[in-house]
Amino acid sequence: MDSGGLAELDDRITGCRACPRLVEWREEVARTKRAAFADETYWGRPVPGFGPADASLLIVGLAPAAHGANRTGRMFTGDRSGDVLYTALYDVGLASRSTAESADDGLTLYGVRITSPVHCAPPANKPTPQERDACRPWLVRELELLRPSLRAVVVLGGFGWQAALPAFAEAGWAVPRPRPAFAHGARLSLGSIELFGCFHVSQRNTFTGRLTPAMLRHVLRTAAAVAGLTTTPYAG
Ligand code: SF4
Repeated sequence: MDSGGLAELDDRITGCRACPRLVEWREEVARTKRAAFADETYWGRPVPGFGPADASLLIVGLAPAAHGANRTGRMFTGDRSGDVLYTALYDVGLASRSTAESADDGLTLYGVRITSPVHCAPPANKPTPQERDACRPWLVRELELLRPSLRAVVVLGGFGWQAALPAFAEAGWAVPRPRPAFAHGARLSLGSIELFGCFHVSQRNTFTGRLTPAMLRHVLRTAAAVAGLTTTPYAG
């Protein structure tokens, strides 16, 4: 991939059409819409990472949600999963507000960037291995650009973990072989950075209590400490 800054990378990602199935799906969802958002213009394109170019903490998800980020054009913005994530980030002092409704709602992240290994909304939230691999160069380049400031990474869910480890290896970090398995609470040192496994903020996990707000805040605080970020005093 060409050199260039993170803003340029984000811009280039939004024009990608490498995965025919995902291009068709994201655009069809944007045309047909959900009734509650019938008056809105959906983004309907790849969703780039969100957060400062000198972030020391990176959060890696799975892929944009059809009526969330695929609608609003910003990671985890406009759906319940995002509400859980941004509330936790706000609670620990890493975000300026607890809600994320639209790309122009003024939300600011402090030292944190959020990205995903697949940048287009997939049907049933399930990208194919081919689509995951096709999108990897974008993540590799993002990691290379973040490398000077990056100290900690929170990976949400097993898909993100499996997709991220090869990307970190390609970006130049020494990832052990065999690759460590995903687990909530997993912690992996790659030398200059540490990776933390955390259950995904999906409704399936948060509605069932598999991932509680306190568990999420704990992972974020631990990773933020490694990243050298200041968080609010511990309150559970
Ligand atoms: Fe491009 Fe990634 Fe979207 Fe595939 S998933 S079309 S590689 S941005």
